[in-house]
Amino acid sequence: MMDRKKFLKSLAILPLAGAAMKLNELNKMTAPFDSTDKMPVLFLGHGSPMNAIEENEFVQGFRKIGSTIPRPRAILCVSAHWETRGTFVTAMDKPMTIHDFGGFPKELFDVQYPAPGSPELARETKALVAKTEVGLDDKWGLDHGAWSVVKHLYPKADVPIIQMSLDYDQAPKYHYELAKEIKSLREKGVLIIGSGNMVHNLGMVEWSRLKESYGYDWAIEASEKMKQFILKDDHQSLIDYSRQGKSFQLSIPSPEHFLPLLYVLAMKDKNESVSFYNDKPVAGSLTMTSVKIDKA
Ligand code: ZN
Repeated sequence: MMDRKKFLKSLAILPLAGAAMKLNELNKMTAPFDSTDKMPVLFLGHGSPMNAIEENEFVQGFRKIGSTIPRPRAILCVSAHWETRGTFVTAMDKPMTIHDFGGFPKELFDVQYPAPGSPELARETKALVAKTEVGLDDKWGLDHGAWSVVKHLYPKADVPIIQMSLDYDQAPKYHYELAKEIKSLREKGVLIIGSGNMVHNLGMVEWSRLKESYGYDWAIEASEKMKQFILKDDHQSLIDYSRQGKSFQLSIPSPEHFLPLLYVLAMKDKNESVSFYNDKPVAGSLTMTSVKIDKA
């Protein structure tokens, strides 16, 4: 596909009548979500909100992921931090930066991530889903599950972004199946990101060791099993995470940080590759493990 800037330049030197005709073509070519090569899908382990402003190996990992993928036309992020009754997508032009945490330094509250929204993508997402009536939301914005990681991938905040909420009334299978319905967005230049943590037990975090790569035995065990299931395309065992024994119960005491992973896995085609980034535990009961699904 022709580069838009080049095209506009060539348009500028056309005679007027020709230009009018070409304008129709241009509209078609640059329609917001035309077909493109299939975009990868990412699960990003976001960990502490401080990762938004700290320089560490994890944010370097996010940058590295960002540098390996084609520039998306828009992002759809499923964040652990937006739970609703029913499923919603943000549909405002300018989503606000939500500082949905407490007890952190002012510097973190000062962060703004002024990426534009995409009401078109919100409507398109809604239209794709038959499973439920997806609501268009104009009140949320970008919570830290989204902006604290996306800012490292796209620091200029120039890629339009929407969020999709987690319906807290639904079972894991529902989320997995819902994700399948929006999978085709990958072929329209949309980067789908699930943001959570595969192992996430806040009650057992050793806060003094937040900067250490350290995991309890059960956290390591669950993390290794999760990765094996992912590598074997055994998504059913992950949907059934509550039946995987003690280490999973401790790692997933509540579902919201785990469910975004199911959205990401649901979008994987059989022949695609999986790679892990930031694959480390921190503070005992969290893992930062991030996943990229891409063409083999
Ligand atoms: Zn979180």
